[in-house]
Amino acid sequence: MKILIVEDELKTGDYIRQGLMEAGFIVDLARDGSDGLHLGLTGDYDLAILDVMLPKLDGWQVLQGWRGAGKEMTVLFLSARDQVEDRVKGLELGADDYLLKPFAFAELLARVRTLLRRGKTRESGILCVADLELDALRRRVTRGGQRIDLTAKEFALLELLLRRKGEVLTRSLIASQVWDMNFDSDTNVIDVAIRRLRAKVDDPFERKLIHTLRGMGYVLEEQA
Ligand code: CA
Repeated sequence: MKILIVEDELKTGDYIRQGLMEAGFIVDLARDGSDGLHLGLTGDYDLAILDVMLPKLDGWQVLQGWRGAGKEMTVLFLSARDQVEDRVKGLELGADDYLLKPFAFAELLARVRTLLRRGKTRESGILCVADLELDALRRRVTRGGQRIDLTAKEFALLELLLRRKGEVLTRSLIASQVWDMNFDSDTNVIDVAIRRLRAKVDDPFERKLIHTLRGMGYVLEEQA
């Protein structure tokens, strides 16, 4: 799968590129709108991650250029502006999704995967273990059919646990995927977040799904 990133902020661009490459994608990065337009027209990409505010041409002009030339790749807009008109404008121009900055990398990755799957097979994007269900597309979580309200971080954390269910996730991996933190960061944040997530997802139910492996990390699974 080939992804084009158009992002002028050096750190953000490098960071997204690195993360997506580690996730197994082939990635090109353009640093301004005119390079982005050119690469998108000449390359064969499955998906483009397009910043709105760009030098030379803005994200909307880039997208118009691609669509005008018949380029149909899936487009995910990134924007620092939380304006409804911006969102509507992007979607009207043919963007497929919209993500507000700042975002956790895990969230970007989840959206990218959902968009790519939707593009190919129109899968439902529903992740589940036992009676716990997470709808990645509609951003909704239920357990036993009962709606559970999560914060954005809790949702990202649960989504990560679900996507890698049965796998032991270390605190440092969770920190880097959900909080953009380094290995050395204070991992207490993770424990607190897990506790909050458990209070909503596990505590009211008899069967526990989130398990602690002392000294190792956490795993989400149905245990006998
Ligand atoms: Ca920008």
